[in-house]
Amino acid sequence: MDDAAATTLDSDATRERDAMVRDQIQARGVADPRVANIMRVVPRHLFVPAEDRAHAYEDCALPIGHGATISQPIVVATMLEALHLDGMERVLEIGTGSGYSTALLCELAGEVWSIELDAHLAQRAADLLRKLGYRDRLHLRAGHGEEGWPSAGPFDRIVLGCAPPHVPKPLLEQLADGGRLVAPVGPKDRQKLVAVERHGARFTKTDLGDVRFVPLRESDG
Ligand code: SAH
Repeated sequence: MDDAAATTLDSDATRERDAMVRDQIQARGVADPRVANIMRVVPRHLFVPAEDRAHAYEDCALPIGHGATISQPIVVATMLEALHLDGMERVLEIGTGSGYSTALLCELAGEVWSIELDAHLAQRAADLLRKLGYRDRLHLRAGHGEEGWPSAGPFDRIVLGCAPPHVPKPLLEQLADGGRLVAPVGPKDRQKLVAVERHGARFTKTDLGDVRFVPLRESDG
């Protein structure tokens, strides 16, 4: 965020964000201080529809239109922590949605590429992120994320905000050696959050628990 935006917004809903981090995120064991610190700053309420602002810091996902949702804060925090970000990484995100997790990734990583299938959501997120000062190290595109962003890869981290039945092969191919992918994987109504690490041609998978995400819509469907 640029300084002007940070100053105006930080005075707004600071207490709600502090409570969200303390009661929903730290209380459930997300211990990464960088994740907690940035979730205390980024104004989540600006990423939810105006009529839902009052609920922006509650312990739930919220609809953002076009069949999409802004993920529950604890789910966002769990995924960010699982990405093991130290500030330098090149990150690919699939499913920009509201742009909330995109903003957090911009704060926690080096450079971010994010793809959203729905053109309306993509435009809305682009406008808001730009207004908040996320520009130089952020690249946005409307399109099918399961194909990745070959011209910009390989990526140190890949994160999916929508759930495919299996991790799409192009994404595994665009993961750098030593890189990490975090995604909800499984059928439409219930998925496992998994972290996949790449070691050369070998991929190791860790199960991070049950989640429920908007399904990834594939090109042929
Ligand atoms: N992290 C976002 C999650 C939004 S919901 C947030 O918290 O706001 C998941 C998003 O994935 C939806 O916006 C949906 O339109 C998008 N999506 C679904 N299939 C996709 C695909 N194949 N490629 C890119 N985005 C996709």
